[in-house]
Amino acid sequence: MEILQYSEAHKQFQKRLRAFCDREIQPQADRWEQDHQVPREMWRKMGQAGFLCPSVEKQYGGLGGDFLYSFIVADEMSRTWQTGLAASLHSDVVVPYIEAFASEDLKRKYLPGCVSGDIVTAVAMTEPAAGSDLAGMQTTAVETGDTVTINGSKTFISNGVSCDLVVLAAKDPAVADKHQAVSLYLVEAGTPGFKKGRQLEKMGWHSQDTAELFFSDCCVPVANRLGAHGGGFFLLMDKLQQERLACAMGAALASERIVEYTVDFCKRTKVSGKPLVRSQAVQFALVEMVAEARIGRTFVEKLIADHMEKKNIVVEVSMAKFWTTDVTHRLAARALDLIGPFGSLEKCPMARAFRDTRVMSIFAGTNEIMKGIAAKFMGL
Ligand SMILES: Cc1cc2nc3c(=O)[nH]c(=O)nc-3n(C[C@H](O)[C@H](O)[C@H](O)COP(=O)(O)OP(=O)(O)OC[C@H]3O[C@@H](n4cnc5c(N)ncnc54)[C@H](O)[C@@H]3O)c2cc1C
Repeated sequence: MEILQYSEAHKQFQKRLRAFCDREIQPQADRWEQDHQVPREMWRKMGQAGFLCPSVEKQYGGLGGDFLYSFIVADEMSRTWQTGLAASLHSDVVVPYIEAFASEDLKRKYLPGCVSGDIVTAVAMTEPAAGSDLAGMQTTAVETGDTVTINGSKTFISNGVSCDLVVLAAKDPAVADKHQAVSLYLVEAGTPGFKKGRQLEKMGWHSQDTAELFFSDCCVPVANRLGAHGGGFFLLMDKLQQERLACAMGAALASERIVEYTVDFCKRTKVSGKPLVRSQAVQFALVEMVAEARIGRTFVEKLIADHMEKKNIVVEVSMAKFWTTDVTHRLAARALDLIGPFGSLEKCPMARAFRDTRVMSIFAGTNEIMKGIAAKFMGL
């Protein structure tokens, strides 16, 4: 029996999304990679077609759907071999902070735009000297009356250039306990004192923009705070499980795409007059690759089911994040060995997959940090 059961509504959603990707994304994906950006209009097209933020409640313009819709979006996006239109980051990582922790006024103000694609979001935690050690962040947020004044900088922020709205983590310097000092605030692009840095040039994810963000006496209303003052660290911990699961989903799906492509390549490519798959060495390599991809997908599907039942799966999600991201990069490397020189060309999707899968072990918490979390919760 399938672990994840799709209703008729899920199936129809997937069918419409696949047609949308074939029509609107696939033909342009190579150009976005070369341009190192996705046209802004694409976010609106995707939102207006109903594929952004499927979990947002209907009263704010969303579908009010379950997490299976997010998995379907990740699945279909993985078929496009591009990472720039980072729907999962927006819909499954950043917007959930607003859905879960924003005041009613903020939800009414921002969620409809997040769903329609008029508002692109980012989450800014990492700083030049604080990523794994989040509690060591130095960006300050000082609340005085109705206003909070923010000073500091963030780095490696995905959607950093294209974002309209940032979920920003900053600390109150007057609070001694570094965990209880952190709060989250919504900061709009264009707010005086908030500047975006240049787009960082990365080894992969070329169409996805990553940037530094700078805050210099940037003032926003205290009402833009998410949750209680000093509660930010706990809100981050609450949402990081879904972020890491989304990362594991992306990695497991990338593995599937890599093995599908490689099996097909080896079937249709002849060496010495025979298809590559007639070689036992190639057969064994492909069987091993498919096995790893299937194990990854099965593990991730089980975790999606558990996550939807609100089970505490922090250990398993940490394991899935490091295992699926390590495996997918190994599979991309193995695929390149089997494909040979064609794999070194930009027009072969494996060249991109090899670069793009490498960085997955770093973001959403490094794989070393994932092992540390698992060890801690296992009582080791
Ligand atoms: C492409 C990309 C996109 C990103 N997007 C975002 C984003 O949108 N928002 C955001 O806030 N951040 C983002 N990040 C930042 C990312 O989450 C951090 O880079 C990551 O968490 C590592 O933190 P760090 O940079 O401080 O590295 P460090 O923590 O300095 O890590 C350096 C090395 O030390 C290891 N290490 C650190 N601590 C330990 C430990 N306790 N035990 C064992 N090993 C350890 C790490 O595993 C790593 O190998 C992104 C990063 C990349 C590369």
